[in-house]
Amino acid sequence: MSTLVDYPSVVERYEPTLGLEVHVELSTNTKMFCGCPTTFGAEPNTQVCPTCLGLPGSLPVVNRTAVESAIRIGLALNCSIAPWGRFARKNYFYPDMPKNFQTSQYDEPICVDGYMDVTLDDGTVVRVGIERAHMEEDTGKSLHVGGATGRIHGADYSLLDYNRAGVPLIEIVTKMIPDTGGRAPEVARAYVTQLRDLISSLGVSDVRMDQGSMRCDVNLSLSPAGSGVLGTRTETKNVNSLRSVERAVRYEMSRQAGVLDAGGEIVQETRHFEEQSGTTRAGRRKETSEDYRYFPEPDLVPIAPSAEWVEELRGTLPEKPWERRARIQQAWGLSDEELRDLVNAGALDLIEATVAAGAPAGEARSWWVAYLAQQANSRSVELAELPITPAQVARVIALVAAGDLNNKLARQVVDGVLAGEGEPDAVVESRGLKVVSDDGALIAAVDEALAAQPDVADKIRSGKVQAAGAIVGAVMKATKGQADAKRVRELIIERCG
Ligand SMILES: [Zn+2]
Repeated sequence: MSTLVDYPSVVERYEPTLGLEVHVELSTNTKMFCGCPTTFGAEPNTQVCPTCLGLPGSLPVVNRTAVESAIRIGLALNCSIAPWGRFARKNYFYPDMPKNFQTSQYDEPICVDGYMDVTLDDGTVVRVGIERAHMEEDTGKSLHVGGATGRIHGADYSLLDYNRAGVPLIEIVTKMIPDTGGRAPEVARAYVTQLRDLISSLGVSDVRMDQGSMRCDVNLSLSPAGSGVLGTRTETKNVNSLRSVERAVRYEMSRQAGVLDAGGEIVQETRHFEEQSGTTRAGRRKETSEDYRYFPEPDLVPIAPSAEWVEELRGTLPEKPWERRARIQQAWGLSDEELRDLVNAGALDLIEATVAAGAPAGEARSWWVAYLAQQANSRSVELAELPITPAQVARVIALVAAGDLNNKLARQVVDGVLAGEGEPDAVVESRGLKVVSDDGALIAAVDEALAAQPDVADKIRSGKVQAAGAIVGAVMKATKGQADAKRVRELIIERCG
């Protein structure tokens, strides 16, 4: 085994060429070619039928929603949509694929020749070309029992779950990405991050890398700097987090440079990324497309989306997530860091909806990132899963602005909504949370507090106005936090002359 080369030394002497293949599982209700449900985490082999099990005589039917999702993804990636294309059979045997072929698209993919402009942390924009995006079906899952680290080698037996077999996939393949130099790992990560956000904004997939609904393969080759000769590439499979994408590229660059420095040759092969060590290990020698004996699928009609349908779908594309963020950042006057925190907390949509419901941006932001974030945290749920809507938060903010609630009472109203006690106004009513600003009641409470603390009252009378704080505190306590603190302070000064 050759040694790894120091990353700066790799970059000095070699040019990486990067390619990324991303599989996205669509979140359609049913599978690609049959009506079986696609719920994640169901009991093994409970979501199967003769078609997705490949039983003789069963016939596939294309899922229209999956085709729509594929076209929308292609349009969002600036691809052309093929007016006519067939599915193809990719023939190979593996136990997780009950038909012994995968229904895929081969030389007639539905989306071709697009691009995405990827922005790196320092603002540099790299245009990544999209070769194609095509439709196919997922395989089942194997579970190897008894061996080390879940691998088939040394396992006592294997279990197969076909629930995933036939779930719609879109495979998105970039063109070769040259000239990224030392930034190849960063470009790879930024591309996958933006692709995930883009697909998420389309609402066609959960794009959860941790659950496998988005999976990335990294193709990488090195050529001696300035040589212009394309090196042999490796394909690192199923890199399952954004951080791993970056690490896998960096590791392959160092490893391949070590092999080349020692006078060796890079073997064209698939490799597996090892999450623990951040390294890759050799898998099988790479098959060529001839090995798969592709041929057009005879059981399915060609996909022929009309120009009208494509334009109709283009009309459903939302604002690009990065454009939307730039707009919001500007409108709300956020720093890059503040914006990033909101995105990471999953708060952006919620705050935007709260603002749309009439709340000022600053107030909306403060509720979601402070009190509500704490509530989500203590319940171990995502912010969006809290049982309160942006409109309800906006109503609480409006009640505070109108002087009907102070901040403390407002939190109690929110607690009530979270506890399922109804709308904010109903909670105010049922819990009796309105601010007391009726002077009669407040004056009585102020006089009582002054009488209870005569020394403090004397101080205020002698002009030490800052001493009023203690009386305000006593009145707030006596009124269970429901007094209007500002009015209480005014009344104390009045009563002390
Ligand atoms: Zn089925």
